[in-house]
Amino acid sequence: MENKKIVVIGGVAGGASTAARLKRINEHNQVIMFEKGPHVSFSNCCLPYYLSGKVKNEDSLILMTPQKFYERYRIDARTLCEVIDIDRQKKEVTVKDNRHHTTYTESYDYLVLSPGAVPRIPHIENINLLPWFCVRNVCDIHKIKEELTQKQHQHITVIGAGFIGVEVAENLRQAGFSVHLIQRNNQILNKSFDLDMVQILQKELLDHQVAIHLNATVTSFTKEGVVLDDQTTIPTDAVIMAAGVIPATNLAKKAHLKIGKLGGIAVDQNYRTSDPHIYAVGDAIEVYNAVTNQPMILSLAGPAQRQARFAANHISGQFGQNRGFIGSSCIQVFNYNGASTGINEGDIARDKLDIDYQVVYVIPQDSVSLMPNSQPLHFKLLFEKPTGRILGAQAIGKGDVTKRVDVIATLIKMHGTIFDLQDVELCYAPPFGTAKDVTNIAGLVSTNLMAETFKQISVFHVRPLVEQGACFVDLREQNEYDLGHLKNALHIPYSTLRDHLDQLPTDVPVYLYCRSGHRSYSAICALQKLGFSNVYNVAGGFLGISFQEYFMDTYTKRTPIVTNYNFN
Ligand code: FAD
Repeated sequence: MENKKIVVIGGVAGGASTAARLKRINEHNQVIMFEKGPHVSFSNCCLPYYLSGKVKNEDSLILMTPQKFYERYRIDARTLCEVIDIDRQKKEVTVKDNRHHTTYTESYDYLVLSPGAVPRIPHIENINLLPWFCVRNVCDIHKIKEELTQKQHQHITVIGAGFIGVEVAENLRQAGFSVHLIQRNNQILNKSFDLDMVQILQKELLDHQVAIHLNATVTSFTKEGVVLDDQTTIPTDAVIMAAGVIPATNLAKKAHLKIGKLGGIAVDQNYRTSDPHIYAVGDAIEVYNAVTNQPMILSLAGPAQRQARFAANHISGQFGQNRGFIGSSCIQVFNYNGASTGINEGDIARDKLDIDYQVVYVIPQDSVSLMPNSQPLHFKLLFEKPTGRILGAQAIGKGDVTKRVDVIATLIKMHGTIFDLQDVELCYAPPFGTAKDVTNIAGLVSTNLMAETFKQISVFHVRPLVEQGACFVDLREQNEYDLGHLKNALHIPYSTLRDHLDQLPTDVPVYLYCRSGHRSYSAICALQKLGFSNVYNVAGGFLGISFQEYFMDTYTKRTPIVTNYNFN
């Protein structure tokens, strides 16, 4: 194997992984890794947890040092060294060494770019009237902690409610701060969860006194606080900017490397840029979306590390199969966990994807209901018609949501269908799940829907139908009904349904609901056999309706469509 000199730009997720792999493949490779910050290989993902004290020690955020890189791998990791130019003809980079205040050049056989992304800073008038911070690295989080503790701030505004914004808001709230979370769109976490699913997490933030502001844009700062486009001023001592990130492409652009249509560095199937001696990985590039067959920008640690390994292998003459990416991610929001994979309804609408799809929404228990920690798990699955190909899934609950979404992610990567899903054989004992796992149930409901054995509506459609005076039937028992129900719903407990068929109208659609959609599905099976054809299951039932309605009812102070909510 030929020995090579490889220069890596960026010393964290993608850069450090590439460097280590290059040395593991060939000890004789010369690898120099430049990092403009003072730290290499730190845990970006754990940064928010330092704010609440879940991660107690700032030093523990730094996973490796240049010295360790040298001792373990003989990698020459140079911190406080920014690469400021690439000369593709000479195959050398210009480095600004901020430790020794020098500038020098370094040659390469191959160059790997993993410069990450830069925070998007929205245009805000008088932005310097309030202290504001981004959360990208250990220095950022150190500055935030220092500011908040030394100045004894109380009111923090977080701008942007993507993953980083929500995690920072949660951790600051847990640390005792009063927190406002501003989001330009009509929902938080809009890349990973659909509007119907995310209501659960919005409720959880509200329940923990995080003040969410939706459809709100920050226009200016004053000494008193953050001013929104509706002229509201939010009293604020300090601001966290989490309004998204932009691929770091300055160097690549300067070197005239090809940039993709989404603004990331364009790479081929081997993560080679338009220059065959330069590779690029991580947040800075555009990857291939294996569900939509379109390019996408994916700022996640796992994919960055996978790309790093692939690029290092290719530089070393090892070839692999690039299966693209589907974007699997998860988040904890106080007592709830959320996970998602593949595409969601928001993606399909936003990107105008020409896909005929169907949605399944089920809320089974995540373990046998007799077990002490058994919890409802909200699970939404999207599949393509007519093929049954699985497109994406979202899960939210207090228990293990990642296991379920990981099953779906695996199936998507293997081109699985709903027919595969109903058949996957998963572990079962009462503390861990149910004999028919949440994912199997979603597969079974999907195949029923595909076979058109019944019709359903989503909890998302309940409010407009209620407002139009549609006929809803509550099939739960008296004690459940008494705790809360849809206003104007007919109440016919499922146990007595067959004795009260005469109460069911036949000239209009009838929407049946129970607690989660399971009893109402059984009722529909029976009713269809008894001659009722205009009957619809409310997928998610009253539990789904309660979660769907609560946050927006409270936030907008609109008139509830329920007599009371029931979240159990
Ligand atoms: P980075 O890890 O950001 O590394 C890029 C490095 O390059 C930076 O340190 C930068 O200083 C350096 N650099 C840039 N330009 C130059 C230059 N010209 N010369 C020298 N050095 C340069 N992902 C998940 O999957 N799960 C999570 O839970 C998660 N949580 C996150 C939480 C936070 C707060 C943040 C910030 C990110 C989180 N991510 C998470 C995203 C994940 O960390 C990134 O996707 C991943 O780190 C990308 O790797 P990268 O190598 O492309 O960029």
